[in-house]
Amino acid sequence: MVHDNFHIELWRLLVIGLIIVLFGALSGVWSLAIFIGLGGYIAWHLRQLYIMEEWLHGAMRDESHLGAIWRYIAIRMKKARNRSRQRKKRLSRLLHRFYDTLEAMPDAAVILGSDLRVQWFNTAAHELLGLEMSARKHNQRILRLIPDADFERWVADNDHVTNLELASPANTARMLQIRMVGFGHEQFLLLAHDITELKRVESVRRDFIADVSHELRTPLTVVAGYLEMLAEEKALPEDIHQALIASRRQAERMQSIVADLLMLSRLELGEDEPQPGELVTVPELLEGLAEDARRLSEEDGRHIQLHVDATLGLIGSESELGSAFGNLIFNAVQHTPEGTPIDVYWGRDGEGARLVVADQGPGIAPEHLARLTERFYRVDKSRSRERGGTGLGLSIVRHVLKRHEAVIDIQSMPGEGSRFVCLFPANRIVKLP
Ligand code: ADP
Repeated sequence: MVHDNFHIELWRLLVIGLIIVLFGALSGVWSLAIFIGLGGYIAWHLRQLYIMEEWLHGAMRDESHLGAIWRYIAIRMKKARNRSRQRKKRLSRLLHRFYDTLEAMPDAAVILGSDLRVQWFNTAAHELLGLEMSARKHNQRILRLIPDADFERWVADNDHVTNLELASPANTARMLQIRMVGFGHEQFLLLAHDITELKRVESVRRDFIADVSHELRTPLTVVAGYLEMLAEEKALPEDIHQALIASRRQAERMQSIVADLLMLSRLELGEDEPQPGELVTVPELLEGLAEDARRLSEEDGRHIQLHVDATLGLIGSESELGSAFGNLIFNAVQHTPEGTPIDVYWGRDGEGARLVVADQGPGIAPEHLARLTERFYRVDKSRSRERGGTGLGLSIVRHVLKRHEAVIDIQSMPGEGSRFVCLFPANRIVKLP
């Protein structure tokens, strides 16, 4: 098609050329012939350009006034313009649907551009984050609109894989869970979900467990006390004596569960409070715990070995750390056969410190490892109960470590023993004299 039009144009030029030759030959005035011929041709094209410009500006509705190749160009331009208009309409429809979807969300959604400036937000963002329309109009920085130190720190930390829990700037009684996901080039979608109700239910659960455990403690002490006294009574028939011993054991187990539940509640309650900070002489603490564990293992106890850096201490809570390390050491005794070698290492690990409790016991299957620190999660429930376990030990360990900015890593394979590794950050360690 384009070639057809171009050929017509060439023919037109050829005809003009022939007329010039004919006129020049007949009149002998060649220069006049060329001037009139080419001048006319250029003038015609100039006129077409003029019409084209008018058409482009919309002064002319259709392109029928244009000649040959110009009309063809105009038709092509019109088609391209229509196509781009349709694409624009489609895009704008999509964009509207996108904004409508975000608008319909109960969660706050904020689109941030480069420098974390607000580009758009939905009504929920106004309600939950207190963002005003002017922030959108002036593309204000989100850090100016939510002036909170935790939020600032979280935003500066670029990975954003963890969510942030923040009191709503619009209403401090509401708790929000904030997420941020990147898209496009330096664009972010900030989402805030109202978790006030969830937090309330969580706190009701925590209070309930704490209250029940607290209420059970006194009656249990009384029951256990009487059972202890009666179990020591020699004059009773043997079957009653055995029943009393069994009852006393169960009462003691209940006391352990209640004590562990109370400890967990206390740890959970103080999770967000300033971390405890006294000097803990870990080597001494471990000596004491190993001694207790040796007594518990009811034989010469030489299978528990300590490998301790005597110059390394921690900043933390002695009772909490004692409970966490004790749980790991007693677990190694309780969940392995008598006489299994158990090694406890305490030393530096890069900038930080590391406590390892390693045993050569039966080990744990990989599918259990991730859930081991959940409350009441036990690989073998009946065996754990039989050995006096509450199923709360590792959960306590996890909470204590969290309060000390430390983490636990459990490495185990069936038949190859287990290693419970606690990693402490550099700011927690102290050099002992
Ligand atoms: P428990 O009171 O049962 O010891 P924990 O929370 O301390 O509860 O431990 C959870 C479970 O992890 C235990 O029931 C046991 O199955 C498993 N476990 C813990 N330590 C060891 C270990 N050293 N070797 C093998 N299994 C272990």
